[in-house]
Amino acid sequence: MATFRIAIVGAGPAGYFAAQALQNSATEDQTFLIDMIERLPTPWGLVRSGVAPDHPKIKTVSKVFEKIATTENFRLFANVELGTDLHSSDLVERYDAVVIATGSSLGRALGIPGEELRGSLSAADFVPWYNGHPDFASLDVPLDCDTAVVIGAGNVAMDVARMLALDPHELDTSDTADHALSALHNSSIRRVILCARRGAENASFTSPELRELSKLEHTNVIINKNEIQAARERAGTEPEKDVKSNLDAMSLVAEKDATNNERTFEFEFLLAPLEIHGTGRVEEIVLGVNKVMEGKVVATGETKTIKCGLVISAIGYEAEAIEGVPYLKGKVANTDGHVEGTNLYAVGWAKRGPSGVIGTNKSDASEVIKLLISQLPATPKNKGDVAELLKGHTVVTQIHWEAINGAEVAQGELLGKPRVKATERHELLRLGGL
Ligand SMILES: Cc1cc2nc3c(=O)[nH]c(=O)nc-3n(C[C@H](O)[C@H](O)[C@H](O)COP(=O)(O)OP(=O)(O)OC[C@H]3O[C@@H](n4cnc5c(N)ncnc54)[C@H](O)[C@@H]3O)c2cc1C
Repeated sequence: MATFRIAIVGAGPAGYFAAQALQNSATEDQTFLIDMIERLPTPWGLVRSGVAPDHPKIKTVSKVFEKIATTENFRLFANVELGTDLHSSDLVERYDAVVIATGSSLGRALGIPGEELRGSLSAADFVPWYNGHPDFASLDVPLDCDTAVVIGAGNVAMDVARMLALDPHELDTSDTADHALSALHNSSIRRVILCARRGAENASFTSPELRELSKLEHTNVIINKNEIQAARERAGTEPEKDVKSNLDAMSLVAEKDATNNERTFEFEFLLAPLEIHGTGRVEEIVLGVNKVMEGKVVATGETKTIKCGLVISAIGYEAEAIEGVPYLKGKVANTDGHVEGTNLYAVGWAKRGPSGVIGTNKSDASEVIKLLISQLPATPKNKGDVAELLKGHTVVTQIHWEAINGAEVAQGELLGKPRVKATERHELLRLGGL
Protein backbone atom coordinates (compact mmCIF):
# COMPACT_ATOMS: atom_id res chain seq x y z
CA MET A 1 0.00 0.00 0.00
CA ALA A 2 1.27 3.51 -0.86
CA THR A 3 0.91 6.30 1.69
CA PHE A 4 1.41 9.79 0.25
CA ARG A 5 2.13 12.87 2.32
CA ILE A 6 0.12 15.91 1.28
CA ALA A 7 0.62 19.40 2.75
CA ILE A 8 -2.34 21.79 2.63
CA VAL A 9 -1.44 25.40 3.31
CA GLY A 10 -4.35 27.47 4.65
CA ALA A 11 -7.10 26.22 6.98
CA GLY A 12 -10.03 27.94 5.30
CA PRO A 13 -12.98 26.23 3.57
CA ALA A 14 -10.93 25.36 0.47
CA GLY A 15 -8.19 23.74 2.57
CA TYR A 16 -10.67 21.64 4.55
CA PHE A 17 -12.61 20.62 1.45
CA ALA A 18 -9.32 19.58 -0.20
CA ALA A 19 -8.54 17.45 2.87
CA GLN A 20 -12.03 15.95 2.74
CA ALA A 21 -11.63 15.09 -0.94
CA LEU A 22 -8.34 13.31 -0.13
CA GLN A 23 -9.94 11.44 2.77
CA ASN A 24 -12.81 10.36 0.51
CA SER A 25 -10.36 9.20 -2.16
CA ALA A 26 -8.35 6.84 0.08
CA THR A 27 -8.44 3.22 -1.08
CA GLU A 28 -6.94 -0.06 0.10
CA ASP A 29 -3.95 0.63 -2.14
CA GLN A 30 -3.49 4.34 -1.59
CA THR A 31 -3.84 6.49 1.54
CA PHE A 32 -2.93 10.05 2.46
CA LEU A 33 -1.25 11.64 5.46
CA ILE A 34 -2.53 15.22 5.53
CA ASP A 35 -0.66 18.06 7.24
CA MET A 36 -2.57 21.35 7.29
CA ILE A 37 -0.51 24.49 7.86
CA GLU A 38 -2.19 27.74 8.98
CA ARG A 39 -0.59 31.10 9.75
CA LEU A 40 -3.07 32.06 12.49
CA PRO A 41 -3.42 30.28 15.82
CA THR A 42 -7.04 29.58 14.71
CA PRO A 43 -8.34 27.66 11.68
CA TRP A 44 -11.51 28.14 9.54
CA GLY A 45 -10.26 31.10 7.42
CA LEU A 46 -13.00 33.53 6.41
CA VAL A 47 -15.64 31.46 8.19
CA ARG A 48 -14.11 32.93 11.34
CA SER A 49 -12.75 36.23 10.05
CA GLY A 50 -14.98 37.10 7.06
CA VAL A 51 -18.58 35.88 7.38
CA ALA A 52 -20.65 38.56 9.09
CA PRO A 53 -21.39 38.04 12.81
CA ASP A 54 -25.14 38.45 12.19
CA HIS A 55 -25.04 35.36 9.93
CA PRO A 56 -24.32 32.67 12.55
CA LYS A 57 -25.98 29.82 10.63
CA ILE A 58 -23.40 30.07 7.85
CA LYS A 59 -20.64 29.49 10.37
CA THR A 60 -22.07 26.09 11.35
CA VAL A 61 -20.10 24.70 8.37
CA SER A 62 -17.23 24.70 10.89
CA LYS A 63 -18.74 21.45 12.26
CA VAL A 64 -17.89 19.84 8.92
CA PHE A 65 -14.33 21.19 9.19
CA GLU A 66 -13.93 19.77 12.69
CA LYS A 67 -15.10 16.35 11.52
CA ILE A 68 -12.47 16.43 8.77
CA ALA A 69 -9.83 17.54 11.27
CA THR A 70 -10.55 14.73 13.71
CA THR A 71 -10.37 12.02 11.07
CA GLU A 72 -7.34 9.73 11.18
CA ASN A 73 -4.19 10.83 9.33
CA PHE A 74 -4.93 14.56 9.63
CA ARG A 75 -2.66 16.94 11.57
CA LEU A 76 -3.08 20.68 12.12
CA PHE A 77 0.00 22.91 12.32
CA ALA A 78 -1.48 26.33 13.10
CA ASN A 79 0.48 29.45 14.10
CA VAL A 80 2.86 28.49 11.27
CA GLU A 81 3.18 30.82 8.28
CA LEU A 82 4.42 29.64 4.90
CA GLY A 83 6.94 32.20 3.68
CA THR A 84 7.99 33.17 7.22
CA ASP A 85 8.22 30.11 9.46
CA LEU A 86 8.61 27.73 6.55
CA HIS A 87 9.72 28.08 2.94
CA SER A 88 7.82 26.62 0.02
CA SER A 89 10.87 24.50 -0.83
CA ASP A 90 10.66 22.88 2.65
CA LEU A 91 7.26 21.53 1.69
CA VAL A 92 7.85 20.88 -2.00
CA GLU A 93 10.90 18.72 -1.17
CA ARG A 94 9.24 16.71 1.60
CA TYR A 95 5.65 16.25 0.46
CA ASP A 96 4.33 14.34 -2.50
CA ALA A 97 2.04 17.29 -3.23
CA VAL A 98 1.48 20.74 -1.71
CA VAL A 99 -1.93 22.39 -1.94
CA ILE A 100 -1.99 26.18 -1.63
CA ALA A 101 -5.29 27.21 0.00
CA THR A 102 -4.23 30.58 1.34
CA GLY A 103 -7.19 32.59 0.01
CA SER A 104 -7.15 36.17 -1.16
CA SER A 105 -6.64 38.61 1.66
CA LEU A 106 -5.41 41.92 0.21
CA GLY A 107 -8.06 44.52 -0.57
CA ARG A 108 -7.94 46.05 -4.07
CA ALA A 109 -7.21 49.75 -3.85
CA LEU A 110 -9.50 52.38 -5.40
CA GLY A 111 -6.42 54.14 -6.77
CA ILE A 112 -7.84 57.64 -6.22
CA PRO A 113 -6.36 60.72 -4.51
CA GLY A 114 -7.12 60.92 -0.79
CA GLU A 115 -7.37 57.16 -0.33
CA GLU A 116 -4.55 57.33 2.23
CA LEU A 117 -6.48 59.71 4.54
CA ARG A 118 -7.51 58.63 8.02
CA GLY A 119 -11.05 57.24 7.76
CA SER A 120 -10.46 55.65 4.35
CA LEU A 121 -10.30 51.89 4.82
CA SER A 122 -10.48 48.69 2.83
CA ALA A 123 -13.10 46.06 3.65
CA ALA A 124 -10.11 43.68 3.74
CA ASP A 125 -9.10 45.44 6.99
CA PHE A 126 -12.48 46.51 8.37
CA VAL A 127 -14.11 43.06 8.13
CA PRO A 128 -11.36 41.20 10.03
CA TRP A 129 -11.38 44.06 12.59
CA TYR A 130 -15.02 43.42 13.54
CA ASN A 131 -14.45 39.67 13.33
CA GLY A 132 -11.58 39.61 15.84
CA HIS A 133 -8.68 38.69 13.49
CA PRO A 134 -5.57 39.22 15.65
CA ASP A 135 -3.73 41.22 12.95
CA PHE A 136 -6.47 43.86 12.87
CA ALA A 137 -7.48 44.24 16.53
CA SER A 138 -5.86 47.68 16.79
CA LEU A 139 -7.07 49.06 13.43
CA ASP A 140 -8.02 52.74 13.61
CA VAL A 141 -11.72 52.87 12.66
CA PRO A 142 -13.06 56.39 13.17
CA LEU A 143 -16.82 56.11 13.73
CA ASP A 144 -17.26 59.65 15.13
CA CYS A 145 -19.04 60.94 12.03
CA ASP A 146 -22.65 60.94 10.83
CA THR A 147 -22.16 59.45 7.34
CA ALA A 148 -20.18 56.51 5.95
CA VAL A 149 -19.79 55.66 2.26
CA VAL A 150 -19.18 52.08 1.16
CA ILE A 151 -17.84 51.53 -2.36
CA GLY A 152 -18.73 48.26 -4.06
CA ALA A 153 -21.64 46.20 -5.34
CA GLY A 154 -21.07 42.73 -3.93
CA ASN A 155 -21.96 40.87 -0.76
CA VAL A 156 -18.83 42.09 1.05
CA ALA A 157 -19.89 45.74 0.45
CA MET A 158 -23.35 44.83 1.67
CA ASP A 159 -22.01 43.10 4.82
CA VAL A 160 -19.87 46.15 5.60
CA ALA A 161 -22.71 48.62 5.05
CA ARG A 162 -25.14 46.49 7.07
CA MET A 163 -22.69 46.15 9.98
CA LEU A 164 -22.34 49.96 10.07
CA ALA A 165 -26.08 50.62 9.68
CA LEU A 166 -27.45 48.01 12.10
CA ASP A 167 -28.57 48.95 15.56
CA PRO A 168 -25.56 47.51 17.47
CA HIS A 169 -27.91 45.93 20.03
CA GLU A 170 -28.72 43.44 17.26
CA LEU A 171 -25.09 42.30 17.51
CA ASP A 172 -25.03 41.90 21.29
CA THR A 173 -25.67 38.16 21.07
CA SER A 174 -23.30 37.63 18.14
CA ASP A 175 -19.59 36.77 18.06
CA THR A 176 -18.59 40.30 16.97
CA ALA A 177 -15.20 41.06 18.54
CA ASP A 178 -15.64 42.91 21.87
CA HIS A 179 -13.53 45.89 20.72
CA ALA A 180 -15.68 46.30 17.58
CA LEU A 181 -18.98 45.84 19.41
CA SER A 182 -18.10 48.55 21.87
CA ALA A 183 -16.91 50.88 19.06
CA LEU A 184 -20.15 50.25 17.14
CA HIS A 185 -22.22 51.04 20.25
CA ASN A 186 -20.38 54.36 20.50
CA SER A 187 -20.60 55.02 16.76
CA SER A 188 -22.15 58.32 15.59
CA ILE A 189 -22.85 56.89 12.12
CA ARG A 190 -26.52 57.15 11.24
CA ARG A 191 -26.38 57.20 7.44
CA VAL A 192 -24.60 54.60 5.32
CA ILE A 193 -24.52 55.02 1.56
CA LEU A 194 -23.45 52.12 -0.62
CA CYS A 195 -22.25 53.36 -4.02
CA ALA A 196 -22.02 51.09 -7.03
CA ARG A 197 -20.21 52.09 -10.23
CA ARG A 198 -22.65 50.31 -12.53
CA GLY A 199 -26.43 49.98 -12.62
CA ALA A 200 -28.53 47.73 -10.36
CA GLU A 201 -28.75 45.13 -13.16
CA ASN A 202 -24.97 44.62 -12.93
CA ALA A 203 -24.66 44.43 -9.15
CA SER A 204 -23.11 41.22 -7.86
CA PHE A 205 -25.08 40.99 -4.62
CA THR A 206 -26.94 37.73 -4.17
CA SER A 207 -30.69 37.81 -3.75
CA PRO A 208 -31.01 36.09 -0.32
CA GLU A 209 -28.78 38.82 1.16
CA LEU A 210 -30.87 41.52 -0.55
CA ARG A 211 -34.16 40.00 0.61
CA GLU A 212 -32.89 39.93 4.17
CA LEU A 213 -32.60 43.74 4.13
CA SER A 214 -36.35 44.23 4.25
CA LYS A 215 -36.31 42.42 7.60
CA LEU A 216 -34.00 44.96 9.27
CA GLU A 217 -36.07 46.30 12.14
CA HIS A 218 -34.15 49.36 13.22
CA THR A 219 -32.76 50.67 9.93
CA ASN A 220 -34.48 52.40 7.01
CA VAL A 221 -33.27 50.71 3.83
CA ILE A 222 -33.64 52.91 0.77
CA ILE A 223 -33.41 51.84 -2.86
CA ASN A 224 -34.78 54.18 -5.50
CA LYS A 225 -37.76 52.58 -7.32
CA ASN A 226 -37.00 54.52 -10.50
CA GLU A 227 -33.44 53.17 -10.60
CA ILE A 228 -34.72 49.59 -10.36
CA GLN A 229 -37.30 50.30 -13.08
CA ALA A 230 -34.56 51.75 -15.31
CA ALA A 231 -32.34 48.74 -14.54
CA ARG A 232 -35.18 46.38 -15.56
CA GLU A 233 -35.53 48.22 -18.86
CA ARG A 234 -31.79 48.01 -19.48
CA ALA A 235 -31.77 44.31 -18.57
CA GLY A 236 -34.36 43.63 -21.29
CA THR A 237 -37.39 41.36 -21.33
CA GLU A 238 -35.43 38.17 -20.67
CA PRO A 239 -32.74 38.96 -18.13
CA GLU A 240 -30.52 36.18 -16.73
CA LYS A 241 -32.06 34.31 -13.80
CA ASP A 242 -29.69 35.84 -11.20
CA VAL A 243 -30.22 39.36 -12.53
CA LYS A 244 -33.98 38.92 -12.40
CA SER A 245 -34.00 37.57 -8.87
CA ASN A 246 -31.66 40.37 -7.72
CA LEU A 247 -33.88 43.04 -9.29
CA ASP A 248 -36.97 41.39 -7.76
CA ALA A 249 -35.28 41.42 -4.35
CA MET A 250 -34.29 45.08 -4.79
CA SER A 251 -37.88 45.94 -5.79
CA LEU A 252 -39.10 44.36 -2.55
CA VAL A 253 -36.91 46.78 -0.61
CA ALA A 254 -37.68 49.75 -2.88
CA GLU A 255 -41.44 49.27 -2.61
CA LYS A 256 -41.55 48.70 1.12
CA ASP A 257 -43.38 51.42 3.09
CA ALA A 258 -41.01 54.09 4.34
CA THR A 259 -39.86 53.67 7.95
CA ASN A 260 -38.70 56.34 10.32
CA ASN A 261 -35.73 54.84 12.14
CA GLU A 262 -32.74 56.74 13.38
CA ARG A 263 -30.44 54.77 11.05
CA THR A 264 -30.48 54.67 7.25
CA PHE A 265 -28.84 52.41 4.68
CA GLU A 266 -29.10 53.82 1.13
CA PHE A 267 -28.14 52.26 -2.19
CA GLU A 268 -26.83 54.54 -4.96
CA PHE A 269 -26.05 53.21 -8.44
CA LEU A 270 -23.98 54.58 -11.33
CA LEU A 271 -21.55 56.50 -9.13
CA ALA A 272 -17.77 56.00 -9.40
CA PRO A 273 -15.34 57.34 -6.75
CA LEU A 274 -13.01 60.04 -8.09
CA GLU A 275 -11.38 61.72 -5.07
CA ILE A 276 -11.51 61.76 -1.31
CA HIS A 277 -10.97 65.14 0.33
CA GLY A 278 -10.08 66.14 3.87
CA THR A 279 -7.44 67.70 6.08
CA GLY A 280 -5.85 64.89 8.03
CA ARG A 281 -8.96 62.72 7.66
CA VAL A 282 -11.82 61.97 5.32
CA GLU A 283 -14.31 64.84 5.06
CA GLU A 284 -16.01 64.16 1.73
CA ILE A 285 -15.92 61.95 -1.32
CA VAL A 286 -16.41 63.11 -4.90
CA LEU A 287 -18.07 60.61 -7.21
CA GLY A 288 -18.48 60.74 -10.97
CA VAL A 289 -22.04 60.23 -12.20
CA ASN A 290 -22.23 57.44 -14.77
CA LYS A 291 -24.91 56.47 -17.26
CA VAL A 292 -25.49 53.39 -19.37
CA MET A 293 -25.19 53.88 -23.13
CA GLU A 294 -25.65 50.93 -25.47
CA GLY A 295 -25.01 48.54 -22.62
CA LYS A 296 -21.78 50.30 -21.54
CA VAL A 297 -21.20 52.33 -18.39
CA VAL A 298 -19.84 55.77 -19.30
CA ALA A 299 -19.09 58.92 -17.32
CA THR A 300 -21.52 61.81 -17.80
CA GLY A 301 -18.90 64.34 -16.68
CA GLU A 302 -21.13 65.38 -13.77
CA THR A 303 -20.02 64.80 -10.19
CA LYS A 304 -21.69 64.32 -6.85
CA THR A 305 -20.05 65.15 -3.51
CA ILE A 306 -21.03 63.37 -0.31
CA LYS A 307 -19.91 64.75 3.06
CA CYS A 308 -18.73 61.78 5.13
CA GLY A 309 -16.12 60.82 7.71
CA LEU A 310 -15.61 57.21 6.69
CA VAL A 311 -15.10 55.59 3.28
CA ILE A 312 -14.79 51.81 3.03
CA SER A 313 -13.90 50.23 -0.29
CA ALA A 314 -15.07 46.71 -1.02
CA ILE A 315 -14.08 46.25 -4.65
CA GLY A 316 -12.36 42.88 -4.51
CA TYR A 317 -9.35 41.05 -3.16
CA GLU A 318 -5.98 39.80 -4.38
CA ALA A 319 -3.86 36.98 -3.05
CA GLU A 320 -0.82 37.85 -0.99
CA ALA A 321 2.19 36.35 -2.78
CA ILE A 322 4.21 33.65 -1.05
CA GLU A 323 7.84 33.17 -2.09
CA GLY A 324 8.39 30.13 -4.27
CA VAL A 325 4.80 30.13 -5.53
CA PRO A 326 4.12 31.78 -8.92
CA TYR A 327 1.30 34.35 -9.09
CA LEU A 328 -0.54 35.89 -12.01
CA LYS A 329 -3.24 38.60 -11.80
CA GLY A 330 -3.68 38.32 -8.03
CA LYS A 331 -3.97 34.52 -7.84
CA VAL A 332 -1.70 31.49 -7.97
CA ALA A 333 -0.65 30.89 -11.62
CA ASN A 334 -2.37 27.58 -12.27
CA THR A 335 -4.05 25.44 -14.89
CA ASP A 336 -7.11 23.75 -13.43
CA GLY A 337 -5.49 24.05 -10.01
CA HIS A 338 -2.05 22.71 -10.97
CA VAL A 339 1.08 24.86 -11.06
CA GLU A 340 2.73 23.50 -14.16
CA GLY A 341 6.03 21.65 -13.81
CA THR A 342 5.72 21.38 -9.98
CA ASN A 343 4.01 19.35 -7.27
CA LEU A 344 2.16 22.53 -6.21
CA TYR A 345 -1.63 22.82 -6.51
CA ALA A 346 -4.05 25.61 -5.66
CA VAL A 347 -7.65 25.57 -4.45
CA GLY A 348 -10.26 28.11 -3.35
CA TRP A 349 -9.77 31.85 -3.65
CA ALA A 350 -5.98 31.40 -4.09
CA LYS A 351 -6.80 29.46 -7.26
CA ARG A 352 -9.86 31.24 -8.65
CA GLY A 353 -9.61 34.72 -7.18
CA PRO A 354 -12.19 36.16 -4.79
CA SER A 355 -15.39 34.65 -6.10
CA GLY A 356 -17.70 31.96 -4.90
CA VAL A 357 -19.41 31.15 -1.63
CA ILE A 358 -18.18 28.58 0.87
CA GLY A 359 -19.87 25.69 -0.96
CA THR A 360 -18.20 26.63 -4.28
CA ASN A 361 -14.88 25.65 -2.74
CA LYS A 362 -16.08 22.09 -2.16
CA SER A 363 -16.73 21.09 -5.77
CA ASP A 364 -13.68 23.08 -6.86
CA ALA A 365 -11.33 21.37 -4.36
CA SER A 366 -12.73 17.98 -5.27
CA GLU A 367 -11.83 18.53 -8.96
CA VAL A 368 -8.31 19.70 -8.10
CA ILE A 369 -7.72 16.72 -5.79
CA LYS A 370 -8.82 14.35 -8.57
CA LEU A 371 -6.18 15.92 -10.80
CA LEU A 372 -3.57 15.81 -8.01
CA ILE A 373 -4.15 12.11 -7.39
CA SER A 374 -3.93 11.37 -11.10
CA GLN A 375 -0.50 13.08 -11.20
CA LEU A 376 1.04 11.41 -8.11
CA PRO A 377 4.21 9.39 -8.73
CA ALA A 378 4.02 5.60 -8.44
CA THR A 379 5.82 5.58 -5.09
CA PRO A 380 5.75 8.12 -2.24
CA LYS A 381 8.83 10.28 -1.57
CA ASN A 382 9.25 9.35 2.08
CA LYS A 383 11.37 12.40 2.78
CA GLY A 384 9.99 13.30 6.23
CA ASP A 385 7.54 16.03 7.16
CA VAL A 386 7.15 19.49 8.55
CA ALA A 387 7.26 18.47 12.24
CA GLU A 388 11.03 18.10 12.15
CA LEU A 389 11.41 21.69 10.88
CA LEU A 390 9.18 23.19 13.53
CA LYS A 391 11.02 21.97 16.62
CA GLY A 392 11.11 24.91 19.03
CA HIS A 393 8.29 26.74 17.21
CA THR A 394 4.97 27.20 19.05
CA VAL A 395 2.62 25.08 16.97
CA VAL A 396 -1.12 25.09 17.62
CA THR A 397 -2.17 21.50 16.97
CA GLN A 398 -5.75 20.22 16.79
CA ILE A 399 -5.73 19.53 20.54
CA HIS A 400 -4.58 23.07 21.33
CA TRP A 401 -7.16 24.50 18.91
CA GLU A 402 -9.90 22.44 20.56
CA ALA A 403 -8.88 23.98 23.90
CA ILE A 404 -9.06 27.51 22.39
CA ASN A 405 -12.40 26.75 20.75
CA GLY A 406 -13.79 25.25 23.96
CA ALA A 407 -12.69 28.26 26.03
CA GLU A 408 -14.19 30.78 23.58
CA VAL A 409 -17.49 28.88 23.38
CA ALA A 410 -17.67 28.48 27.18
CA GLN A 411 -17.08 32.22 27.63
CA GLY A 412 -19.81 32.91 25.05
CA GLU A 413 -22.32 30.63 26.79
CA LEU A 414 -22.12 32.78 29.91
CA LEU A 415 -23.18 35.79 27.82
CA GLY A 416 -25.68 34.15 25.45
CA LYS A 417 -23.28 34.38 22.47
CA PRO A 418 -21.92 31.65 20.17
CA ARG A 419 -18.42 32.50 21.46
CA VAL A 420 -16.28 35.34 22.75
CA LYS A 421 -13.29 35.59 20.44
CA ALA A 422 -9.82 36.11 21.80
CA THR A 423 -8.29 38.73 19.53
CA GLU A 424 -4.62 38.73 20.54
CA ARG A 425 -2.22 36.00 19.49
CA HIS A 426 -0.76 35.62 22.99
CA GLU A 427 -4.24 35.25 24.46
CA LEU A 428 -5.17 32.61 21.87
CA LEU A 429 -1.98 30.69 22.66
CA ARG A 430 -2.70 30.98 26.39
CA LEU A 431 -6.21 29.55 25.88
CA GLY A 432 -4.61 26.71 23.95
CA GLY A 433 -2.36 25.98 26.95
CA LEU A 434 0.77 27.12 25.11
C1 LIG B 1 -16.28 39.51 4.03
C2 LIG B 1 -16.68 38.18 3.47
C3 LIG B 1 -17.90 37.62 3.80
C4 LIG B 1 -18.28 36.39 3.26
N1 LIG B 1 -19.48 35.88 3.62
C5 LIG B 1 -19.86 34.69 3.10
C6 LIG B 1 -21.12 34.14 3.47
O1 LIG B 1 -21.89 34.74 4.24
N2 LIG B 1 -21.48 32.93 2.94
C7 LIG B 1 -20.63 32.24 2.08
O2 LIG B 1 -20.98 31.13 1.64
N3 LIG B 1 -19.43 32.76 1.71
C8 LIG B 1 -19.04 33.96 2.20
N4 LIG B 1 -17.84 34.49 1.82
C9 LIG B 1 -17.00 33.74 0.88
C10 LIG B 1 -16.17 32.63 1.59
O3 LIG B 1 -15.67 33.15 2.79
C11 LIG B 1 -15.04 32.14 0.67
O4 LIG B 1 -15.65 31.45 -0.43
C12 LIG B 1 -14.07 31.17 1.35
O5 LIG B 1 -13.69 31.60 2.63
C13 LIG B 1 -12.81 31.00 0.50
O6 LIG B 1 -12.07 29.98 1.11
P1 LIG B 1 -10.50 29.85 1.02
O7 LIG B 1 -10.17 28.66 1.84
O8 LIG B 1 -10.07 29.89 -0.39
O9 LIG B 1 -9.90 31.18 1.70
P2 LIG B 1 -9.91 31.69 3.20
O10 LIG B 1 -11.20 31.44 3.85
O11 LIG B 1 -9.43 33.10 3.13
O12 LIG B 1 -8.79 30.82 3.94
C14 LIG B 1 -7.42 30.99 3.70
C15 LIG B 1 -6.62 30.58 4.93
O13 LIG B 1 -5.23 30.57 4.60
C16 LIG B 1 -4.50 31.14 5.68
N5 LIG B 1 -3.22 31.64 5.13
C17 LIG B 1 -3.03 32.72 4.34
N6 LIG B 1 -1.72 32.87 4.04
C18 LIG B 1 -1.06 31.86 4.67
C19 LIG B 1 0.33 31.48 4.74
N7 LIG B 1 1.27 32.18 4.10
N8 LIG B 1 0.66 30.39 5.48
C20 LIG B 1 -0.29 29.67 6.12
N9 LIG B 1 -1.62 30.00 6.09
C21 LIG B 1 -2.00 31.07 5.36
C22 LIG B 1 -5.42 32.24 6.18
O14 LIG B 1 -5.07 32.66 7.49
C23 LIG B 1 -6.77 31.54 6.10
O15 LIG B 1 -7.06 30.84 7.29
C24 LIG B 1 -17.42 35.71 2.35
C25 LIG B 1 -16.19 36.29 2.01
C26 LIG B 1 -15.82 37.50 2.55
C27 LIG B 1 -14.50 38.13 2.17
